[in-house]
Amino acid sequence: MDQPTLQHDKLYIGGEWRRGRGAEITSNFPADGSLNAHLPGASLEDVDLAIERAQDAAADPAWRHLLPHERASYLYRIADGIAQSADRISQVQSRDTGKTLTETRALAMSAAGTFRYMAATLETMEDALTPSRGNFLTMSVYEPLGVTAGITPWNSPIASDAQKVAPALAAGNAILLKPSSWSPLVCLELARVIEAAGLPKGLFSTLPGAGSIVGERLVTHPAIRKVSFTGGTETGRDIARKAADKLMPVSLELGGKSPAIVFADADLDVACAGVMFGIFSSTGQSCIAGSRLFVERSIYDAFVAKLVAATKRLHVGHPFEAATQVAPLIRPKHRDEVEGHVKRARDDGGVILTGGERPAGVDYAGGTYYLPTIIAGLDNTASLCRDEVFGPVLAVLPFDDEADLIRQCNDNSYGLACGIYTGDFPKAWRVARAIDTGTVWINTYKQFSISTPFGGTKDSGLGREKGRDGIRAWMAQKSLYCDLSQAPHPWAKKSL
Ligand code: NDP
Repeated sequence: MDQPTLQHDKLYIGGEWRRGRGAEITSNFPADGSLNAHLPGASLEDVDLAIERAQDAAADPAWRHLLPHERASYLYRIADGIAQSADRISQVQSRDTGKTLTETRALAMSAAGTFRYMAATLETMEDALTPSRGNFLTMSVYEPLGVTAGITPWNSPIASDAQKVAPALAAGNAILLKPSSWSPLVCLELARVIEAAGLPKGLFSTLPGAGSIVGERLVTHPAIRKVSFTGGTETGRDIARKAADKLMPVSLELGGKSPAIVFADADLDVACAGVMFGIFSSTGQSCIAGSRLFVERSIYDAFVAKLVAATKRLHVGHPFEAATQVAPLIRPKHRDEVEGHVKRARDDGGVILTGGERPAGVDYAGGTYYLPTIIAGLDNTASLCRDEVFGPVLAVLPFDDEADLIRQCNDNSYGLACGIYTGDFPKAWRVARAIDTGTVWINTYKQFSISTPFGGTKDSGLGREKGRDGIRAWMAQKSLYCDLSQAPHPWAKKSL
């Protein structure tokens, strides 16, 4: 996008574009620090207004009792709108986050796919007729919750926004979306598409603003009936504690420290490409990044040498260059944090095999670039192997046998993902079933399908998104008993 600043000065609240009354949020382009926009964020009054409008819209029978295929038609229109605006959405997201245009375009198309899938799922969802234990017709049905909220992080905004907004609307709810303060602009593009799709006013609002103010209000407000959160583990814990006070369901998609595993019998080209893609794509700013690499000892030296050589050839560059594989990190503050992790790893005795610094040269001046980094010589208990870095930093460790491998992989507080590279399928299957994690990839990494549920174990989260049950996670289950005899209950009959 050529213009130095983006025209974003209003929020979409209750079906209207309004100037936010909260603190200003600044968005800069991570490739050179230039200004994208000053956006007036949402105030508490704005949040309350959005909730009020959402309550009316969610309770309106015209929405609550809309037939599934009619509700699905809004989602199909939103999907088409996102696909038609994919280039613009991609450019705004790349400016907001520094991600490559290739990646942000793919994220936009995946968001369109999410709306389309949820529409199709909604059209084919069924309530259950349950076996009755008497002369009843018994049913289990699903109903909308009412007003819900989605709170999302900065790393893949349009995709994570869609994963909350699409199933929430498909379920017949209203949803208020609070994006990260570090990527406030993309949700406004989504709002434009949703408005153009003709979704009834009030069902969707965007509320950029500080998590501790806007996010907190959404979580604690009595009218909000569910929060779906994607973000850091500590924030997720805090949200879960507050949700417990009002006994509100929450879904938490949190952090990770996922292992990638290379056995000696793997196709080493496939493994090397998969390991690099797993940790260095998105500049490592990915919850599922394969940030701990376990290599079978007999091939450890040779494989690590191959990996280091290939990593040095990765193209670190501007997000708008087609050749770029590793773009800048999101913010200078975040790069400082990544550098802090690498310093601690060095202090712990880690040996930097490649990277460990900012790239030199005029092309990188002003941008928040950091070289893909591989660190060896650490124990699985070192902080680099425990803490989520959320940057392009890989710890490599050897393993001796399956038992040793599984023990090391599971000896971690997170359980989000895992990648296994081997030519021996029964072994891949055994190990996949033994790793305590939400997703396992075999001979690949970071592949997603909207029809396959996603979520974590342990500190990586609670609940699942996506898949056919993805809509039901936004609904209340109700049991219905209908007496078929139409006769008074025998217990009371003699008193009648
Ligand atoms: P944060 O947890 O800091 O923030 C996530 C969102 O929560 C932001 O919108 C933030 O707002 C908001 N927030 C912050 N504090 C509160 C609060 N007290 N109450 C309510 N909302 C709050 O995470 P990051 O944005 O730094 O994102 C990176 C993290 O997200 C990583 O740990 C990563 O692993 C995780 N993640 C997990 C994914 C998964 O699917 N499992 C996918 C992508 C990321 P604000 O920005 O204004 O502070």
